Formats: sequence, structure tokens, C-alpha cells
Amino acid sequence: MSGMRALIVLAHEVRTSFNYAMMEAAVEALENKGWQVTVSDLYAMKFNPVLSAADITGSPKDPLHFKYAVETGRAWKEGRLSSDIVQEQKKLDAADLVVFQFPLYWFGMPAIMKGWFERVFTHGYAYSLQTMYAKGPFQKKKALLSFTTGGNDSSFSPTGVHGDINVVLWPLQNGILNFCGFQVLEPQLSYAVSHTSHQERTQILQAWKTRLENIWEDKCISFAPAADFDMSFAGGFALKEEAKKASAHQEYGLSVGQHLGKAFPPDNQVRAGSTKI
Ligand code: FAD
Repeated sequence: MSGMRALIVLAHEVRTSFNYAMMEAAVEALENKGWQVTVSDLYAMKFNPVLSAADITGSPKDPLHFKYAVETGRAWKEGRLSSDIVQEQKKLDAADLVVFQFPLYWFGMPAIMKGWFERVFTHGYAYSLQTMYAKGPFQKKKALLSFTTGGNDSSFSPTGVHGDINVVLWPLQNGILNFCGFQVLEPQLSYAVSHTSHQERTQILQAWKTRLENIWEDKCISFAPAADFDMSFAGGFALKEEAKKASAHQEYGLSVGQHLGKAFPPDNQVRAGSTKI
């Protein structure tokens, strides 16, 4: 994979953590295959996750009511974003593959990584009303969530106490990655790493390295196609009647989000090809 570039965004506060080991395993496996790898180690960088008016230089359009998306979108076009945001955007621009490595905190990503998305994924640069989903700016890039959990796999099943992992994944994989156009690879889920043996954790690391050897050939998760929606305010950004009719006799809904009042397609967010493309 010479010439291919990967960016790993890591959110863990401790260098001896399993998440850190997952990041190091990824760097080793990808570099062995000829990838050029860059790591954004957010805690080590002391990345500022709090968005504010200080994210732009120069005068805001409306100093009395600072609208973050509008002002940072203008600043992005005019080259007036703060340098820490620009640095991350340059890393992202260069990357073919982006891996997000983090522990699951409160059913989501750690606040420092959420703040990275809020500040780095500027309006216009990462998304807009006109480019959302299929027309997203990151269409040529692949992205992958790799995270560890406290709960075990059965606790994140449809009958488990934490509920279906597909529901946890939906806002992250659809609401962020698919929304901005990324091709979304199946997530790498490392369950209950604090409750497994050293030997099992070594196997998890090895399986991760093996998967990364051919990661570019991995299948992507499929989402309900944007063409099936009326992408206008008049049309309510809603599923078109013909698409509704076409799926009327299907046993399952289209996805976790567009479930159409039916059961979710099983493992819609963890396996490729669960919905039509
Ligand atoms: P660590 O504790 O760092 O590591 C686990 C074990 O792996 C340790 O024994 C470590 O020594 C060992 N290890 C490190 N490196 C290696 C290596 N190279 N080889 C083999 N072993 C190694 N969990 C949920 O399920 N849902 C939640 O909503 C949730 N919310 C949370 C919110 C907060 C604020 C916090 C603090 C935790 C939450 N958790 C939740 C639990 C959290 O997801 C887990 O604690 C975390 O995923 C464990 O990952 P880690 O990297 O911190 O593990």
C-alpha cells in the first residue's frame, strides 16, 4: 500500500492503556504494509475540545451573536481558522484511511474526541446542507471506529442490559461519518478488555493487526441510499414514496435509523451489506 496514508485519532489519557496498545498495533501493522501513518494523540497534544469564538481570527460577521457554524465556515473559506484546527484538517486532507481509537465513555466517544469533531469538522469543509451524505467531501476516504468497552458483548446484544450495539453505533457511524461522506468500514469492537485475560487481549491485538494488513479491501457498511430521500425542505428530507413502497413487504426496516416501524435489519451497523446500496 505504498503511497497510501492513514491518520489515527487516539483518545486515551494513559500510555499504558489497551487503547494505546491498539494504536501502536495499528501503526506497526499499517507501516509494515507500506502505509504512511500519522497519529493525533489528542490527550498528549492537549487538544482543546471546547469550541468558541477564539476558533477564528479576524472580525466575526455578527459579533453580538456568534453563530459558530456560520463564522467558522466563513473563516475556513478565508483562511482564518485557528492553527490547531488547520493542522488537523491538513492531516485529514492527506489521509486515505482514518481510524478513530477510543474507549467507549457514556455510550459515545470521550469528550476530547467529540470536541475534535466539533472543531475540526468545520461547516463547508466537512459538511453542508448541499453536500450531506452521498455528496460529502470525504467520499474518497474510508473511516473506521475502533473502540473498547467496559461491558461484554452479550450485554450489548438486543437482549443485553445495555441494548443493541447497533444503536450505539448509529449516531457515530451515520450521524458523523456517513453524514460527511466517508465510506464506513466495519467497526473494530473490543469488548470488556479489563475483564479478559492477558492472553485474550494479546489475541485481540493480533486479530486487529491481521485485519489491518488488508484493510483497504474490507467491505464497507451500507446505508440507505441518499437518492431514496427527497433532499429538500419542501420534501422534508424524507424517504420517497417509491422507496417506501419498495420496502413495504420487506421483513426489516432499512437501517437502525430508517427502521420504518419494523425490526432493525440484524447487525446493520457492524456488518457490511445489511441494507441495500
Ligand atoms: P485499560 O484499563 O487501560 O486496559 C485493560 C487491560 O489491558 C489492563 O489490564 C491493561 O494492563 C491491559 N493492557 C494494556 N496494554 C496491553 C497489551 N499491550 N497487551 C495486553 N494487555 C494490555 N463502558 C461501557 O461499556 N459503556 C460505557 O458507556 C462506558 N462509559 C464509561 C465512561 C467513563 C467516564 C469511563 C472512565 C469508563 C466508561 N466505560 C464504559 C468503561 C470503558 O469503556 C473501559 O474502561 C475502557 O474501554 C477500557 O479500555 P482501556 O484502554 O482504558 O483499558
